[in-house]
Amino acid sequence: MNRKALIASIFFAGASLAPVGSHVVADEQPLAGYSAESSRAERQWEEKLRAIPSPEKLRAYMEHLSARPHHVGSPYDKENAEWIAARFKEFGLDTHIEQFDVLFPTPKERAVELVEGGPKFAAKLQEPALPQDPTSNQQSEQLPSYNAYSIDGDVTAPLVYVNYGIPEDYEQLERMGISVKDKIVIARYYHSWRGIKPKVAAEHGALGCLIYSDPHEDGFYQGDTFPKGPYRSSDGVQRGSVADMPVYPGDPLTPGVGATKDAKRLDLKDAATITKIPVLPISYGDAQPLLAALTGPVAPEGWRGGLGLTYHVGSGPAKVHLKVKSNWDIKPIYDVIGKITGAVYPDEWVIRGNHHDAWVNGAEDPTAGMVAVLEEARALGELVKSGWKPKRTILYAAWDGEEPGLLGSTEWAETHYDELRAHAVAYINSDTNGRGYLGVEGSHTLEKFSNDVARDIQDPETKLSTWKRNQLHGIANAKTPEQRQEIRQRSDLRIPALGSGSDYTAFLQHDGVASLNIGFGGEDGGGIYHSIYDDFYWFTHFSDTDFVYGRALAQTGSTAVMRLADADLLPFEFGNFADTIQTYLKELENLSQKMQDDIRERNREIEEGVFKATNDPKRPLVPPAAEAVPPHLNFAPLENAADAVARSAAEYRKALDRANANGGTALAAGSIAEVNRLLIESERKFTTSEGLPNRPWFKHQLYAPGYYTGYAAKTVPAVREAIEQKQWKQADEGIVVVARVLQDEAALISTAAQKLSAAH
Ligand SMILES: [Zn+2]
Repeated sequence: MNRKALIASIFFAGASLAPVGSHVVADEQPLAGYSAESSRAERQWEEKLRAIPSPEKLRAYMEHLSARPHHVGSPYDKENAEWIAARFKEFGLDTHIEQFDVLFPTPKERAVELVEGGPKFAAKLQEPALPQDPTSNQQSEQLPSYNAYSIDGDVTAPLVYVNYGIPEDYEQLERMGISVKDKIVIARYYHSWRGIKPKVAAEHGALGCLIYSDPHEDGFYQGDTFPKGPYRSSDGVQRGSVADMPVYPGDPLTPGVGATKDAKRLDLKDAATITKIPVLPISYGDAQPLLAALTGPVAPEGWRGGLGLTYHVGSGPAKVHLKVKSNWDIKPIYDVIGKITGAVYPDEWVIRGNHHDAWVNGAEDPTAGMVAVLEEARALGELVKSGWKPKRTILYAAWDGEEPGLLGSTEWAETHYDELRAHAVAYINSDTNGRGYLGVEGSHTLEKFSNDVARDIQDPETKLSTWKRNQLHGIANAKTPEQRQEIRQRSDLRIPALGSGSDYTAFLQHDGVASLNIGFGGEDGGGIYHSIYDDFYWFTHFSDTDFVYGRALAQTGSTAVMRLADADLLPFEFGNFADTIQTYLKELENLSQKMQDDIRERNREIEEGVFKATNDPKRPLVPPAAEAVPPHLNFAPLENAADAVARSAAEYRKALDRANANGGTALAAGSIAEVNRLLIESERKFTTSEGLPNRPWFKHQLYAPGYYTGYAAKTVPAVREAIEQKQWKQADEGIVVVARVLQDEAALISTAAQKLSAAH
């Protein structure tokens, strides 16, 4: 999986008074969390570090790692794990491979046929080899196109087109008087994580689900198709997992515990994350005859894709036969873990990772990110050989099994739960890489830190700092004058919260480890995601062809790791965090108000007869039903807690300013270690042992993937999702829980401020 589909939305969205070329100014100012003296030494090591990553090496690693298909259970997946482990060892990291045994279904039978309502048609379900593309013909090793963790099924039913297949599409269908009960739905990719589509379809009574790649999203509508251009050709298929990961990621048979050899496993029938209905992904070549056979109402304007046909919703007369059958095997996965032991605080861990498994050859996803991680490990290893000793322990990880369901990282983070709760400072993830802007998402206590790192990385195309380029990009894309003003004036660019879709999930949302996700992108569109064409040929023709953004990613990741590992005082910061909490609170209050206003207005329109008067009897719409206006929620506990966080953040700021005086000698005091212990705890405080309502695996009370979005984050989910789903009692309860969590956090920040003031 990767965030490619989302990457356009994850650039820094916010900004600064810092002058252009702030490097000079920054040099005079010690790094956050460093005394003047240790900052000088750190800057020298960092300069050396950033000079090491080499585009030639990145290219050679990618050519090797993507040479053959390397999905979970394949020979080359294991070979790659061993090859990465050998490199880590060669670089000087203390390295081992950790194995888990996970449920990994692979397809045995697949069929999609149009059996009524049009010319008989059987879908090809096959991506052809291309003569130009030397790895596209490795068919014997390629996984067929399928959606992992689809339940087995054999169904024949009328077809209904459901647009993206997200909840609001079904509200529209209801207005159109169309039910999907006992039907097969066809949804297009995008606008949600793919696993949401069969989940929502099943909730509405559908029997089966097809997901296709419409050319509007990543095919010829966007640009020339592969091999002429980078976009999806008519036979290209997006593979991917459809497990219900917003309930829990990882091995479906071992929720909450590591899938070790002897772990207790659920029966397959009890695994809650397997889909309820069969699902298969298809190309637009295979989808076109099915869509062309649909009649019924013309699809609403926003539902129409890029195919040369009139999009009808159905149902019928098109009737489709869908068959999916898998081998439900347990397969080994291989996480590679390399360690550099800290010289001063060996029990404080800075962790950096990317996955190594792919759906097929996976040059972009995950190899473009994985090769940067390898170069980082090499660079840090070289510095160790020349005398650098990190204060803290550094762990470099190459995860297996990310594609089917974040398996390797989740099983590892579950197995090592207690150690991670005790030792993990932060986790820094990447998943892929491309050309363009530095995307950073993550924990807001690290927002300032990530801005500081971005200020020290040069953008390869413009030679501006990645930070400055992001700021200017933010100004160009701001939607309102207020947004532009904030981007120009706020000292840091805002970072979006993490939802899900990559390996940070278990660290952040289960273990409560502060996390960041990094990667460049935004200038290199494409449509090879999870197809056989995501390979070395495609990447070296259409993406970061000279690997300079690969180098920039290695510089970003390694700088962040080194700076966290060496800091006197960990660079967690609470002013931006407090500011972010205020914005969430405002969003929630506005959302609650808007729900009331919208329902009130709609009820009024029903009474006025608006829907009856505007109904076209030839294209009839069912009027919506009147609804009770939502009650007022009591946000006072959250308002008080947000204020408490703001007060304690200001206290901490004051204590920090005092500690920074006189060259920051206080930061070198032995008692700083106690402050660091509290700072490490600061993200843990956001987790509760009960977790979120109806999905206890997700323990973080500020960040979660949306239950109905999958990739996209829902912040303060216990409150926000309750409001969205009109669960008013649950919303009120959520407010109390989150307020308590934030009050605890405020108390911790205050204690840290007091200890910091006392350090000398
Ligand atoms: Zn990925």
